[in-house]
Amino acid sequence: MADLSVVIPIYNEEGNIPLLHERWTRTLEEMKVGYEFIFINDGSRDRSVELLRELAQKDSHVKYIDFSRNFGHQIAVSAGLDHSRGEAVVIMDADLQDPPELLAEMYRKYKEGFEVVYARRRSRHGESWFKKITARAFYRLLSSLSSVDIPLDTGDFRIIDHKVVEALRKMPEKSKFLRGQISWIGFRQTFLEYDRQERHAGETNYPFRKMLALALDGITGFSDVPLRFVTYFGLIATGFAFLGALYVLYSRFVLRDFVEGWASLMITVLFIGGVQMIAIGIIGEYLSRIHANVRNRPLYIIRDSNCSS
Ligand code: UDP
Ligand code: MG
Repeated sequence: MADLSVVIPIYNEEGNIPLLHERWTRTLEEMKVGYEFIFINDGSRDRSVELLRELAQKDSHVKYIDFSRNFGHQIAVSAGLDHSRGEAVVIMDADLQDPPELLAEMYRKYKEGFEVVYARRRSRHGESWFKKITARAFYRLLSSLSSVDIPLDTGDFRIIDHKVVEALRKMPEKSKFLRGQISWIGFRQTFLEYDRQERHAGETNYPFRKMLALALDGITGFSDVPLRFVTYFGLIATGFAFLGALYVLYSRFVLRDFVEGWASLMITVLFIGGVQMIAIGIIGEYLSRIHANVRNRPLYIIRDSNCSS
């Protein structure tokens, strides 16, 4: 059994794979640990999978899993965890934004007895202000909504013990938000701070659409506050509506006031219509996730792999 399994999701990373492999191999050799790489090709449209196959032929530390299509970053990491055999697992990105140099220090902390050592971003370079602001806001919103203590400004870059990996394997949910699930699992957790580098080559594979999907998975997976909010808001709105109705009846039958009041009527109808749409939308977000779990389709489909398990 290897000491460390290094799980790396790959989506259109042909410009990063050779340097990534070289730098991480050097780091791991210097650390004098037994290791394996598990690359998950998440339906790349470039030459990534060819590069991975070549690497696997040259270097027996290299395992790869080739998905039948793009299933998404969190699912790619989950597949890597499913196939990992190491005493501990490192999760990281392929674009060298997570510095190899930090690993030795993280590993030392792990050896001190922490089952989870994650890396928290002190600063982020080469990312748009929009991404930084939305990410910052998201982590704060999530922590205020959730009773699980999910660390702020922390991605998936971390070392986790195989006990944590086994616990994750027992969590069959289809909407994966691994950093939250790992917090939920518990054990002794600690962190190191680092400055996040620019992407080495290529462009981000997390456009706003994917960030929003991940954020919604995080919130729906770790908080029922939005649902409760809908209930409270509905109660309050109904209370106001009842008072409004009394007033309407009074003005109709006592004051004999007919046509006037059209503006307030329209405003009320439109407002309540909007509130109802939002409410249904929030319920729908939860419902679609229940539906995904009830359908119980496999999380991912593998076309080809050189992992033995
Ligand atoms: N990734 C993936 N599937 C996707 C999108 C991204 O496997 O659908 C991988 C990507 O190759 C990288 C990691 O997930 O290793 C993080 O993606 P990226 O660097 O684009 O995200 P960012 O750092 O910009 O948030
Ligand atoms: Mg990146």
